[in-house]
Parts: sequence; C-alpha cells; structure tokens
Amino acid sequence: MKEWDRLITVEEMEAATERLLETGKKVGADSWQQRVKNQTPHCGFGEAGTCCRICSMGPCRITPKAPRGICGCDVHGIVGRNYLRFTAGGAAAHSDHGRAIAHTLYLAKEGGNYQVKDPEKLKKIAGEWGIETEGKDIYDLAHEVAETGLMEYGKPFGTQRFLKRAPEARQKIWEEQGIAPRAIDREVSQSLHMTHMGCSSLPEALIRQSFRTGLSDGWGGSMMGTEFSDVLFGTPKPIDTEGNLGVMEKDMVNIVVHGHDPSLSEMVVMYAQDPEMIALAKEHGAKGINVCGVCCTANEVAMRHGIPMAGNFLQQENVVLTGACEAIVVDVQCIFPALGPLSKCFHTKFITTSPIARMPDSEFIEFHEETAGENAKAIVKMAIENFDNRNQDLVFIPELKTKCTVGYSVEAIKKCLDGVTNSHVDELGTTKPLIDCVKAGVLRGAVAMVGCNNPKVRPDTYHIELMKKLLENDIIVIVSGCSAQAAAKAGLLDKEAAKYCGEGLKRVCKLVGIPPVLHMGSCVDISRMMILAADIAKDWGIDICQVPVVGCAPEWMSEKAVSIGNYVVATGIETFLGVNPYTKGSTEVEGLLQGSVKDWVGAKFVVDTDLDSLCEKMMACLEEKRAALGI
Ligand code: SF4
Ligand code: SF4
Repeated sequence: MKEWDRLITVEEMEAATERLLETGKKVGADSWQQRVKNQTPHCGFGEAGTCCRICSMGPCRITPKAPRGICGCDVHGIVGRNYLRFTAGGAAAHSDHGRAIAHTLYLAKEGGNYQVKDPEKLKKIAGEWGIETEGKDIYDLAHEVAETGLMEYGKPFGTQRFLKRAPEARQKIWEEQGIAPRAIDREVSQSLHMTHMGCSSLPEALIRQSFRTGLSDGWGGSMMGTEFSDVLFGTPKPIDTEGNLGVMEKDMVNIVVHGHDPSLSEMVVMYAQDPEMIALAKEHGAKGINVCGVCCTANEVAMRHGIPMAGNFLQQENVVLTGACEAIVVDVQCIFPALGPLSKCFHTKFITTSPIARMPDSEFIEFHEETAGENAKAIVKMAIENFDNRNQDLVFIPELKTKCTVGYSVEAIKKCLDGVTNSHVDELGTTKPLIDCVKAGVLRGAVAMVGCNNPKVRPDTYHIELMKKLLENDIIVIVSGCSAQAAAKAGLLDKEAAKYCGEGLKRVCKLVGIPPVLHMGSCVDISRMMILAADIAKDWGIDICQVPVVGCAPEWMSEKAVSIGNYVVATGIETFLGVNPYTKGSTEVEGLLQGSVKDWVGAKFVVDTDLDSLCEKMMACLEEKRAALGI
C-alpha cells in the first residue's frame, strides 16, 4: 500500500487508468477515452449554442449569411432558449430526486424499511413550515411534513417555503427581480413553455426564468432531497473513510453503488452487512462483502456510513475494468450507458433499478420503497453468486488509496466551531468563530468547489490544482459531488493535508480538528452550502453577496451543474466555470450571464478555461469582497 502521508498525483491516477485500459483492450472493451476521440472535433454550432431544433421547420443554425432561423428568431433568442432548456433539465433531475425522497419519507414507519433517524431535524422543518409538532406521533409528523413537501412541487399559489431560510435582504431581491420560485414543477414546465417555438426569445426574460428555475432546485427540490435524506438516514457527522480505486478488495465480493438516490444505496449497504449475506459470500469463497461508491451515491453513503469512495464520474468505467466488480448497482443520473456493453466484457452484473434510467445490457431489478428490503437483498445475493464467475486473470486493482474524513453537514460544521467558542462569552451553534477568522484575515475566504469531470479538461487536474492553490493562500475549500471525490482521491480530505496550507488555514485546521477541504456531500447537498452561506450572512449581519465566498465548477458537464450555477449566482455567490456553457454564440446572453445579472442579484458568472487565470480571478473576487467590507 502507498504512503497516505502525501498527495496522490493526477499522473499516478492516469498511469493506473492506462493499466486498466490495457485489460479493456484485451477483452475488447470500449472506453470514454476512445469515444472522445471519435467525437472530436465537436460541432461548432452546438458548442456556441447557435443551433435550434425545437420545431420541425428547422433544424436552423445561425451563420453570418443566415442571421435568423426560419421563424425569425435571432442568435440571442436561440442561445438563450437553449440555456434555459439546459437549466430546466438539471432542475428537473434534482427535483425529481427530492420528490422521490419525500415519497420515501411519506412511507416511513416504525419497524419499516425506512425510519425516522433524525426526529429533531424533522421537528425543525415542521416548525419552519408552521406544522404543529406538540404531542404528535413522530411518524404522523413525518407523513404530514412529507405531504407538505410534496405539495411544494405543484402548489397553485405562493413561493417556495425554504426561501425563508435566506437573509431578508436576499428574499427581497428575489421578489423584486421576479425570480422567487413558485411550485418546483411549475418552473420546469414554464421553462419548456417559454422555450417552445413562438414564445420567449428575449434573452433577459429567458435568463430570469433560468434563475427562477435554478432557485426552485437549490432552494426547493435539492434542499428537500438533502433535508429529508437527513431525517430518514441521519444528519452526517464527521466520519473516517477511504478514497480512490484501491478501496476495492481483491478477496471480497465488490458491490459498487452508483447514481444519486440514497434510498437504494442505504438498503444495499444494510443488506451487505447482514450476517446471513456475509455467510453466503464466504460460502462462495470470498472473505466478505465490500460496498463502495461512485459519484453522488458514493458521497451519500460515505457521509453517513463511512462507505469508501471508489471514484468520480470519469472513473465509473474503471471500477468495472478492475475485473473485480461483481455488481455495479445504479439508480438515476450520470450513469454511462456504456456500462452495459462494458460489463458484458467482464463478469460484472450491471444492475439498473429505476424506471427513470433504463439501459440496454443491464439486469433490471425494479426498486420500490415499499419492497426496498427484498429488492436490496436480491441485488446483494446476485452480486455474491456472481463472485464464482470472476476471472482472476483479469483482476487488477490499482494500489491507490487515501484516508478521508467526511460528513461535514452544516450541523457538523457548527459543532466543530462550538469546540473553539468561549461559551462564557459567545453563544454556541453559530458560524461566528468562522466569521472572526475571516474578519481577522487568518482565512481570506472560502470557495465552494463543486461539479463533475469533463473530458474537455484533463480529469481532476482543475479540481485538485485549484484546491491546492487556494489552500496555500489561506482560502478554505468546501466540496461536494465529483469535486469532493477528486479531493478524496488526491488525499485532500485527510486532516494531515493541513500541512499543505498557508499558515492561517493550517492553524484553523489544527485548532478546530478539520481537514482543509470539507466534504459537504452530494450534488443535492450544495443546498447545504446555500444554508451555510445564508447562516454566515445572518450571523454577520450582511447579505450573502457580501460574504467573501465564491463558487467554482471547474470541470462541470451536466445540465444539473447549469441549474446549480444559476441558483448559486442568484443566491448572490459569484460562480467560476472552467468549461463554457454553450453561450459564446450570443454577446447578449454572455453579456447578461457574465455581466449585468450582477445588477439583479449581486453576482455573476465568470468563465475562464485557463486554470491559472481562473484561480487568480477567484482570489481577486474574494479580496474585492474583503475590501468592500473594510477587512
Ligand atoms: S423555432 Fe425557429 S429557429 Fe428553432 S427550429 Fe423552429 S424555425 Fe428554426
Ligand atoms: S458532480 Fe456532475 S458528474 Fe458528478 S454526480 Fe454530480 S452531476 Fe454527476
């Protein structure tokens, strides 16, 4: 095993991937690396956002000779509509996830598959939503809160309940700018309506709706997904685990959970620990059962159970290429359809479970909350029995593994901060110690690093290199999604990584007992970051856009990331992107997103594909915010 006491480099990870691709070649497997080559160069119209196919008079594309589509829509309308549709796809994915969790909460019962693990959090949400808690059975309360949450998706009047968590100044901005989200589904649906042929082509209206739809995700669907997951599965607390491909075990049945919804993975984790299943694994010649995760499902089960994280988005094929994966079990989102044909080159069972994500070449075990126990048991059993079919000649597990401490929910962060609060003088449970560090300049600010991998960027380099530079400059980093996994793989979630930081941050890490990069969870858990930013602003007595914090998605790729970007900017947090969002074909749309939206919400997007200048711009933005606050 490698020393954990140093960072694993991207070069080492790439060497491991190369070795795995050799196995792939041997068995005739396809790879994303090859498919990228096949698809390059990309279509310039698509990349600039200047093609439209929303009606059958088209497809139309804009060129100097053809400045309008057949209906007369100009380039700004086309780019703006495409951008809004991009956002709506992302908001729909997160929000449907939130709805599934709300439905699971509705089905929770004493002694059932799903139970209330954090009653305090449930009561807190009920209190915020004006639901009476006194003398009520906890499951009756859970059902009432779940039903109220489900109504948020389609209620006919009013705006989202969770908006009240933002500072009043922010709520006022949302109202005044006409971007306070109403019902979650309504915003997605209205976006599709607005972008229908012959509706909106005015960039300003399209971007405003992009923000409103994004907010319906961040302060609606995603927030509900996170909050209700905590109620059901427990609010994360700091917990130790491991990261990178070396977490797969050569003598064990390896089950990889991949996707997003923790309702499935929680059950798989539970049944993998069942003595009956472990005994069965031993009967099949394995030493036991090893569950590990990929993408956001990995984040969910790592945060709550310390399940090791095998890797992020562009590592999903690697887990199969190890030849040691008995089953890759998926639910929804970010799952390569390539896993089907790839698994056929190995003994791996590719198990799909959701009617929302059906794929060829997979075993479909339809997962229902009502039958969750038996579904999960069947999945675990299938994986165990498949251990017999493993071809040991193909097995290669790279010896890359890091130590990680994860589980930094807002509640956990405040608890850590309580440890350095003088309880005789100050109240507990606030973000004030953090604010004091920022005011004193011990910390210069914070960066929320989120988002995916994208082959357009050398995988993980932007995440890791940016984090290292920020840490050296006393900027604390909070992470989620595949960015968190990049940090995990490198070793930046280890408390020992504090030694790579500037003096101020190093001291804070040692005093508070935290790693310099705080893992806050999955992509829906970016809503935790919104709550943290809101709480800091409230404790400080300023609006969110004044807090020295910025967002960054250096390797983003999905529609969900676009939705996230919109709600982060609309929340007042300047957001830095390392990949262009298909808007460069319109000066008006770019002018809005990267310029004048700042007049609406106090923040904008900054797009820069160069690592160094992206980093410099982020740091300059934090310093500008400090200067404006006089600190
Ligand atoms: S909506 Fe207009 S620009 Fe789009 S495909 Fe139809 S005619 Fe072409
Ligand atoms: S960060 Fe991106 S790739 Fe990773 S799980 Fe989230 S949306 Fe998918």
